[in-house]
Amino acid sequence: MTQVNNYDVKDMTLAGKGRDRIAWAALEMPVLKQVRDRFEKEQPLAGQRLGCCLHITTETANLLITLKAGGASVVACASNPLSTQDDVAAALVEYGIPVYAIKGEDNETYYRHLDAVLDSHPTQTMDDGCDLVSRLHQDRPSQIADIIGGTEETTTGVIRLKAMEKDGALRFPIVAVNEADTKHMFDNRYGTGQSTLDGLLRATNVLLAGKNFVVAGYGWCGRGLASRARGMGAQVIVTEIDPIRALEAVMDGFRVMTMEQAAPIADIIITVTGNLNVVDRQLRKIKDGCLIGNSGHFNDEINIGFLDELSETRRVVREFVEEFKFFDGRKVYLLADGRLLNLAAAEGHPASVMDMSFANQALAAEWVFKKLGTLENKVYVVPREIDENIAALKLKAMGVDIDVLTDAQQAYLSSWQSGT
Ligand code: NAD
Ligand code: SAH
Repeated sequence: MTQVNNYDVKDMTLAGKGRDRIAWAALEMPVLKQVRDRFEKEQPLAGQRLGCCLHITTETANLLITLKAGGASVVACASNPLSTQDDVAAALVEYGIPVYAIKGEDNETYYRHLDAVLDSHPTQTMDDGCDLVSRLHQDRPSQIADIIGGTEETTTGVIRLKAMEKDGALRFPIVAVNEADTKHMFDNRYGTGQSTLDGLLRATNVLLAGKNFVVAGYGWCGRGLASRARGMGAQVIVTEIDPIRALEAVMDGFRVMTMEQAAPIADIIITVTGNLNVVDRQLRKIKDGCLIGNSGHFNDEINIGFLDELSETRRVVREFVEEFKFFDGRKVYLLADGRLLNLAAAEGHPASVMDMSFANQALAAEWVFKKLGTLENKVYVVPREIDENIAALKLKAMGVDIDVLTDAQQAYLSSWQSGT
């Protein structure tokens, strides 16, 4: 371990605690461990400079250590101003990875940290929300010539990248890690489902049983959250804009209604849409005492400006809970400034799901380098063999065996001649 000189973290004396917590998470990351062992031997990222904008958590630390083991030099900043685990940031600096991230940093510091990563002149980017790529394209285009490609972790990042591709603006290839089945089917669904409740409970300690719990958005995250909230005894209501997803929620046994109908009866509202102002004018009708949080993307799923307009006072009543007192006396509680509740008030997804997401990240970074010179400036999906291999390794680590197709079954499945 060689500590680096350039970094910006809260407190280096926290490093010991961070090291222990990183090792604890590693126990639940067997797939990433296998990647790391191979990377150490083969050095597939030798010579690459990776600029990473990810949540600085114990799970991310295990990914960054894996990338470094593979021969890359790695520099990292946070992908959200509230998600950094300061002890982990300090431990990473001790591991020789420059980190620029402090929990609670303001917007200016957030972008200064992003710039510090870009100042390291990465050859590959690793993003969670497209902030690095967007900054490069808008403010630092001269650096793009150095970059061979990148990877993207989350749904909203992929949406932004596809918009760039469509506009002909994207200037290097990106692998959309989120699109791997072993990412979104587990991370977005089971990870967000569990860690959002974790954040809600740590922030408020409310009883969920019997509460009207509104989930806005029934995508991968929403499905997970709705099922986990129901598991805790809440009466779950779903809001949607997509008729197919809404129908799925109805048939999964949830009440579906508009936000306008849900707001007056909601005890808790959590948004997981990736969209703007999902909780907006309906705030006029909000039930007194309602808790409102977001586990989607940026802090604009809830119209906080409008909440402010409706309020006579606002004050912090516990960590991650702000009370808005309306002119008519009703009170509403905003959680974690409307930023990702699971990462701000808790520790984000458990290591066991991040194991698969981050094995995808590491293998996608390797793939980008291997494919140097052959990729176009497009958004790529993770190759299917990588996805299937990760699932197989995860099952093996869990001690689960599955059947194998016989030759006859294989032939049967590929034939079209024989019918009833
Ligand atoms: P998704 O596309 O599968 O689902 C989003 C759903 O929201 C869709 O069904 C869409 O129809 C619905 N929606 C859009 N606008 C809406 C509105 N106004 N009202 C109600 N529903 C609306 O996406 P996903 O994978 O579930 O991700 C959702 C968001 O969560 C993204 O921003 C993603 O980046 C983020 N995310 C967060 C975490 C986390 O750790 N908190 C993890 C994964 C993804
Ligand atoms: N820039 C965005 C980031 C989107 S967060 C923002 O404003 O916050 C959504 C992503 O966080 C998910 O795709 C998930 O993979 C990731 N995530 C969830 N838990 C995590 C954890 N414990 N460590 C690192 N990343 C995590």
